[in-house]
Amino acid sequence: MQLSIDLSGREVLVTGSDAAARQAVLRYRAAGAVVFRLSSPAGSRHDGPLPERPFLVAAVDDGQPGWQALLERCRETGIPVASEPAAGAAGQVTLVGGGPGTTELLTVAAVKALRDADIVFYDRLAPYQELPALSTAELVDVGKRPGHHPVSQSGIEELVVEAALAGKNVVRLKGGDPYVFGRGGEEVAACVKAGVPVRVISGVTSAISVPAAAGIPVTHREVSHMFTVLSGHAPLTEKEHTHLAGLGGLGGTIVVLMGIGTLRQLTAGLRRAGMRADMPMAVIERGYRPGQRTTIGELGTMMTAAADCSSPAVLVIGEVVRVAGANRDCAAAEAELERLAASLLGA
Ligand code: SAH
Repeated sequence: MQLSIDLSGREVLVTGSDAAARQAVLRYRAAGAVVFRLSSPAGSRHDGPLPERPFLVAAVDDGQPGWQALLERCRETGIPVASEPAAGAAGQVTLVGGGPGTTELLTVAAVKALRDADIVFYDRLAPYQELPALSTAELVDVGKRPGHHPVSQSGIEELVVEAALAGKNVVRLKGGDPYVFGRGGEEVAACVKAGVPVRVISGVTSAISVPAAAGIPVTHREVSHMFTVLSGHAPLTEKEHTHLAGLGGLGGTIVVLMGIGTLRQLTAGLRRAGMRADMPMAVIERGYRPGQRTTIGELGTMMTAAADCSSPAVLVIGEVVRVAGANRDCAAAEAELERLAASLLGA
């Protein structure tokens, strides 16, 4: 159960060791509470006077024995007790997949990791606008945008490792899934090399979720039983042109990330490799964000149709693009039938 209470100006007693309670204290302060601290159950270690009767006791699970008596007293005297998780372990790194850009598509593990972090290094494709509501951590933008890298990859790795070595619980928040064109493997390697404990929380990749936002399933029974995800980051080399020929021959869905800058080479390459000019194609820009837009067309004419499309966008090439259209038509037909039925009943 989750309960939201207005705590502004309310006296809250946060109990638990300093290390375990450090983030709960920040959370309650951020919620506007007047925070008091009791760091050991003996009651000997507290900063300043304690409130006579706090509005709430926030009991951080710090693993120390002896809190029971205090909590019992609260129960007897009718002071509500909220259980709070201990702060994240110090000196470790968690690589978190942030999904395609909406907090709705964060995993439960991602939300917990953000809550428990002391510092978050985030990318522009992660749902960063909502971070202050999810975490009291220090937020650092190491945002990568096409052609604009304020912090280099090795710079990011250094920052992350340094923060962990300084004893912080570090979250590295990335767009989508950390292991899909996210350089997650390199960041894990940098931590391992520095002897810093590191774990990875998978995220919802844009390769699947952004087409879904446009109603396009990457596989569909009897339409496509495989999908291949490509990076369009760099123009295709001759070797990759050979790959494209193979790819076209597979007959599955092709999903391209970072493909806006190299759209011409891709569509021309697939045509040269023998793919039909009327193969359905979609460009979905800014999935799950304000201004989400889908452009549907065909391989042969997409270069013109998508002339004003911009990053971030996911490209989809394959028959599955038609499924979105068919479903839309179907939904429209159903809605029309319902309207008809309603007007008949009303008459
Ligand atoms: N690790 C990420 C991909 C990083 S590469 C993942 O799994 O999703 C960055 C590319 O992802 C962008 O250029 C774009 O092609 C795609 N992308 C990520 N989020 C997107 C969004 N909300 N809308 C459209 N494309 C997105």
